[in-house]
Amino acid sequence: MLELEEARERLLATIPPLPAESIPISAGAGRIVAETIQAPMDLPCSDNSAMDGYAVRADDLKNASAEAPARLKVCGENPAGEVFSGSVEPGTCARVFTGSFLPTGADAVVMQEDTRLVQRPVTEALISESIKPFENVRFRGEDVKRGALLFSNGADLNAAGMALLAALGIKQVRVHRRPVIGLLATGSELIEAGEPLAPGKIYESNRVMLATLLERAGAIPRIYPLVPDSLAASQTMLEKALGECDGVVTTGGVSVGDHDFVKKAFEEIGGVMDFWKVAIRPGKPFVFGRCQGKFLFGLPGNPVSALVTFLLLVRPALLRWQGAASVEWPAAHGTLAEPLANRGERRHFMRVTADAAGKVRSAGAQGSHMLSSLAKANGLVDVPPHSNLEIGTGVQVLRWGG
Ligand code: AMP
Ligand code: MG
Repeated sequence: MLELEEARERLLATIPPLPAESIPISAGAGRIVAETIQAPMDLPCSDNSAMDGYAVRADDLKNASAEAPARLKVCGENPAGEVFSGSVEPGTCARVFTGSFLPTGADAVVMQEDTRLVQRPVTEALISESIKPFENVRFRGEDVKRGALLFSNGADLNAAGMALLAALGIKQVRVHRRPVIGLLATGSELIEAGEPLAPGKIYESNRVMLATLLERAGAIPRIYPLVPDSLAASQTMLEKALGECDGVVTTGGVSVGDHDFVKKAFEEIGGVMDFWKVAIRPGKPFVFGRCQGKFLFGLPGNPVSALVTFLLLVRPALLRWQGAASVEWPAAHGTLAEPLANRGERRHFMRVTADAAGKVRSAGAQGSHMLSSLAKANGLVDVPPHSNLEIGTGVQVLRWGG
């Protein structure tokens, strides 16, 4: 039986990044960048005003005071989106707005609130305080210098990153392709929601959960019909899904029961098992295998085991597949508000709820078939074998949120 870290290393070492494709940046949320992106220009592209106010020459205001305000003739106006054709000569100023390019001659901006206007007969601005050169000015290139490295291969693109590219006039970005993942639920007891519940049957619940988690990890889920527990049906559906997708996630049928056919069916169609069983609870019978450049992730059928193995093993694999430089799960620090005990031999990834203040509590009963505590939980805590974590213990919470 492999340790979790060893299993994860084997997955990450086996899965190569998918090829890159070029997409509009508007479709880039959550994608992994597959190129080096350097700034094609300075940002801001010109010195500009940080305020609504008056562009001035700081030198004109050096003696300004409340008793003797400086009087500057307003020589024009420079609304955002236009370029001021004149220049701010000594003794004058220009009306500017936030974002207006700084008019020639001016070196600072006085806030509108610190200015009084008089009309006699030309418009003059009365300013009763001195100002330092460059005050309220945003400089060309102070945010990003032309040629600066913005993203390298493997970085992820979020909403703000998309805005950064847009602000630099970039329309397309090269990203790694998203893996298409077939989702198969095995078990002769399973029926689809909406059908009448027959004796011996249960409603299937893993595919909606895993489809959501697949999408969140950047993959494209493709849901297949339910697979009954037979070698022939398992072979047929695995072959079909592996043919149509980059990889397949199955649930159920990977334990040691007489009706567990996933591993056998996979080998029958030419698949090679890489490993089976990982020393974690829940989720021990997880399977990973390869078949002609495609991959199989066989998850146990119990819903909690399926979720835990997905998050611990499949998610990092999906991220690496998309070329991500970092596949680590962002863990949040928390403090136990009640004890967590693990009497077993394997690490127990326990369902918890972590509140906004970082207080962590068990989400309820921890049986691997218990969906109500899973639905209540927002994270997992890795509780070592034979341990009793007391109230107040600091823990890392693997948050999956929502
Ligand atoms: P298995 O891993 O096939 O031995 O299944 C373990 C447990 O999970 C059994 O109680 C199954 O009925 C249940 N189970 C398996 N697959 C699903 C599923 N897709 N939805 C809900 N329960 C499932
Ligand atoms: Mg089963």
